[in-house]
This record gives sequence, structure tokens and C-alpha cells, in this order.
Amino acid sequence: FKRIQLESRSRDELYEMGETFNHMMDLLEANFEKQDQFVANASHELRTPLTVIESYASLMKRRGLQEPDIFHESIEAIHSEAVRMKDMVEQLLLLAKHNEEWTIQFERIDLGEHVRQTTKAFESAYRREIQFHQQQDGINAFSDQQKLKQLIYIILDNAKKYSEDVITVEVGQKEGVPFIQIADKGVGIPKEDLNKVFDRFYRVDKARSRKMGGTGLGLSLAKEIADAMNVRLTIDSVEGIGTTVKIVLPVGKEK
Ligand code: ADP
Repeated sequence: FKRIQLESRSRDELYEMGETFNHMMDLLEANFEKQDQFVANASHELRTPLTVIESYASLMKRRGLQEPDIFHESIEAIHSEAVRMKDMVEQLLLLAKHNEEWTIQFERIDLGEHVRQTTKAFESAYRREIQFHQQQDGINAFSDQQKLKQLIYIILDNAKKYSEDVITVEVGQKEGVPFIQIADKGVGIPKEDLNKVFDRFYRVDKARSRKMGGTGLGLSLAKEIADAMNVRLTIDSVEGIGTTVKIVLPVGKEK
């Protein structure tokens, strides 16, 4: 830490230092505000499932023993809200860990093979039909297998939640740059919401997302993973027609 010799500075220099200091304070303040907002949002979002759990538990306590329908409805609701809450806490922990602990293990991978396996695993875990297509053999990319799988899972999970038809996954290469494209024919995203879906907790339709077990954190986590891996993530969507997510990967270490 170096002490600044104020007396030996010119007026202009002092003015410039003052400006820099003010700018840094503004940035710090904005950062604190963002963090406060995040904590407030997280508490609010965690409170919702807890309130549902609490009210169903008390309903079950009052009438569950006499009325089997109430018992089953309550236990279903409590279970699904508990699962959603667990997902939310896991995603929050991943987001919180992001800055300090994420290490990316870059390696050259056979992208087609990697995505095929990931798609297969997802398909059998969730029993959803996925059509896989690979433009050609031997498409290589420079990526982290585990993190890429995580990213693909988030996108597939959304396709599964917000569509009922077949999901298609394509691996290709354009001008030597490898990409993955995941498309669904679901509800789509309204144009005015497209640039907000990467924000933490943002959901186009809160009720629908909640019903599908959504947390509003998936895409913001996907964006953080993508940034850490030098991956470009873009979404094209038309309401009522479907959504296509494109993942463009780096060929080498550089961005
Ligand atoms: P959630 O857990 O609610 O799915 P995400 O962060 O993954 O949260 O996505 C944010 C919102 O973007 C979702 O609530 C949904 O409204 C919209 N969305 C994301 N993917 C799709 C998709 N494939 N089709 C339609 N809407 C989508």
C-alpha cells in the first residue's frame, strides 16, 4: 500500500484522482446495491415454496387423517415444493461459488460424441424423445466436459419444461467454429422478454415456471458457465412456435 504524496501533485492530477475515486465509489455502491437486491430476491423466492409447504402441512394436520384426497394432494404439493427449493438452493450455491472456485478443465473433445452421450443420458433419465443430428464426424471443440454437460442439461431441461413435442439437438460447424443447437416447439418466449431471461430469478410466466419446477436461475447459471468457458450463448424464440438455443464453442484457448 503506497501513500499518495498529495502536496507534490498538480491541480489537474488531483482533480483526475478525485474523479477516479468518485467513479470507483459509484461502482462499489452499484455492486453493493446489486448484492442487496440479490439477497432480497433470493429470500423472497425461497419464502414462496416455504409458504406453500407450511400451508399444506397445516391443512394435512387439520383434515389429512380423515380425508385421503386432501392427504394425497398435500403430500404431492409438499414434495414438489421441497424439490424445487432444493434445486434453488443448489443453484444459488453454484452461483455464489462461481467467482472463487470454478476451475475450468479445458481439453480437446470430440463434440459430436460428447453431445450424443449427454443427450442419451438426459433422454433416458427424463423419458423425453430427443432427435440427435450431427452434421459430420470429427467436430472438435476446446471445452470442459463436465461443465458443458451441465450447460446442455440446463437448456434441455428448459426445452422439456416448456414444450411437449420432440426436442432436436444438432451439432455442427460453421467456418471451422463448432456449435450445438437445441430446439423445441414449445410455448416460446415473447420478444420483449428475450433479453431478460438470463437475469437471476426472471421468469416470463411465474406460475407456469413454478408448476414445472422452475427456479428462474437456470439460464443465469447457464450464462455464467458459458462465460467461464468462452462459449457464446444465444436464444432465438417465437411465442407459440418454439425456442432455439445456440451454443458456440471456442476452437482453441483464446476467446
Ligand atoms: P426457470 O427455472 O423458470 O425455467 P430459467 O432461468 O431457466 O428459469 O429460464 C427463465 C425463463 O425463460 C423461464 O421461466 C421461461 O419463462 C423462459 N424460458 C427458458 N427456456 C425456455 C424455453 N425453451 N421455452 C420457453 N420459455 C423458456
